[in-house]
Amino acid sequence: MSLDPVLARIDADLPQALDRLMALLRIPSISTDPAHADACREAADWMVRDLASIGFDARTCPTPKHPMVVGKAGETGPSLLFYGHYDVQPVDPLSLWARDPFDPAIEETPKGKVIRARGAGDDKGQLMTFIEACRAWKAVHGSLPARITMFLEGEEESGSPSMVPFLKENAETLKADLALICDTGMLGNATPAIVTMLRGLVGEEITITGPDKDLHSGMYGGPAINPIRVLARIIAALHDETGRVTVPGFYDGVPEMPEEILAQWQGTGFDPAQFLGEVGLSTPAGEDGRSVLEMLWSRPTCEVNGISGGYEGAGFKTVLPSKASAKISFRLVGSQDPVRIRESFREMVRGLLPPDCSVDFAPHGASPASQMSIGDPAFEKARLALSQEWPNPAAFVGSGGSIPVAGYFRNLLGMDSMLIGFGRDDDAIHSPNEKYDLESFHKGIRSWARILAALSA
Ligand SMILES: [Zn+2]
Repeated sequence: MSLDPVLARIDADLPQALDRLMALLRIPSISTDPAHADACREAADWMVRDLASIGFDARTCPTPKHPMVVGKAGETGPSLLFYGHYDVQPVDPLSLWARDPFDPAIEETPKGKVIRARGAGDDKGQLMTFIEACRAWKAVHGSLPARITMFLEGEEESGSPSMVPFLKENAETLKADLALICDTGMLGNATPAIVTMLRGLVGEEITITGPDKDLHSGMYGGPAINPIRVLARIIAALHDETGRVTVPGFYDGVPEMPEEILAQWQGTGFDPAQFLGEVGLSTPAGEDGRSVLEMLWSRPTCEVNGISGGYEGAGFKTVLPSKASAKISFRLVGSQDPVRIRESFREMVRGLLPPDCSVDFAPHGASPASQMSIGDPAFEKARLALSQEWPNPAAFVGSGGSIPVAGYFRNLLGMDSMLIGFGRDDDAIHSPNEKYDLESFHKGIRSWARILAALSA
């Protein structure tokens, strides 16, 4: 089945595709707000009707909160699960919006035309790029080039409480060769990205106790151990002078990136000076000898996220506190084991305790990193297909944050995810005046048509 007539159809149908997106954007499907439950239901029903109109056998599936939408179409080719979410973030503060967030419009801006509305970029505009690609394919060829399961969530912006039980109950329906997720961004405006690495996370809260009550530093300062001093010494010991984390065994399972991946990162046009400059910084503070993109995507970290102890109010108080505490997190990569890292960290802290001090630990989550198998030829096919549509070649990239659904697909359904999206850094996705570039929408649809062609060839 040839691609060119599909691309031509996408170009010709763009005004109608925009009308459909506008209709979806008018539904105020804010998932976290119970007052908008009916709107979430309405958005789910809208998705089912739209999918049915292009031949999907689609339905809503109830959950304790907002329904999932599941649809199937296509008889031949690879089996693909597409994921997106039809719910949106709240809109407050409303006063900062230049227009009604649920009255979408196309606006001219100095950087080109944008679609302005809550949900335009996250995630309604993005999920419709894939659906429109399917629509064009179906219109031209009468059928889809792959066996596609559409899976649209209505609770992504409120923590996905129903996702894990739903995946467990519906594993057979949802399982596919590969998942496609459209909820991420590009690198700048010209370089498409496929996220293939997501860092994991371990959180630990430690509390050091010295004296069994707060003391006066005039009465006890000197002989009494100060837990803040102990805590500061422990925190200072977590990195060496080259920026490496000193927890024993921490780097077990941290892979070196292949040269070709590092070369792709070089070619993305990413500007470390600009990236740091935007937050008032100039000097990368990670491991010596690593690029900023390695520090963000392929290297693990240890950060102190909060620290407290003693007198923190206004003025001054010569207290010698009984306790001091810190919240510490580790971002993980490769096959680093969150459980072993937690144990090793605790062991190290206990070893640094002076006499008369004790430590309590409180765990705050542990998830391993996800690394997609980019040796699977589907990844390179998709990368080449994307590169045909955009000015710069596409890159396999990492994500400094976490995208939990990709981890659930891996752990519960046993499949890798290809995270491809067309968002831009300035989309304001959780803020007032959210937008999606018209170019992202149009070229996003064309990109998916190319990817479907490549994966089914
Ligand atoms: Zn999203």
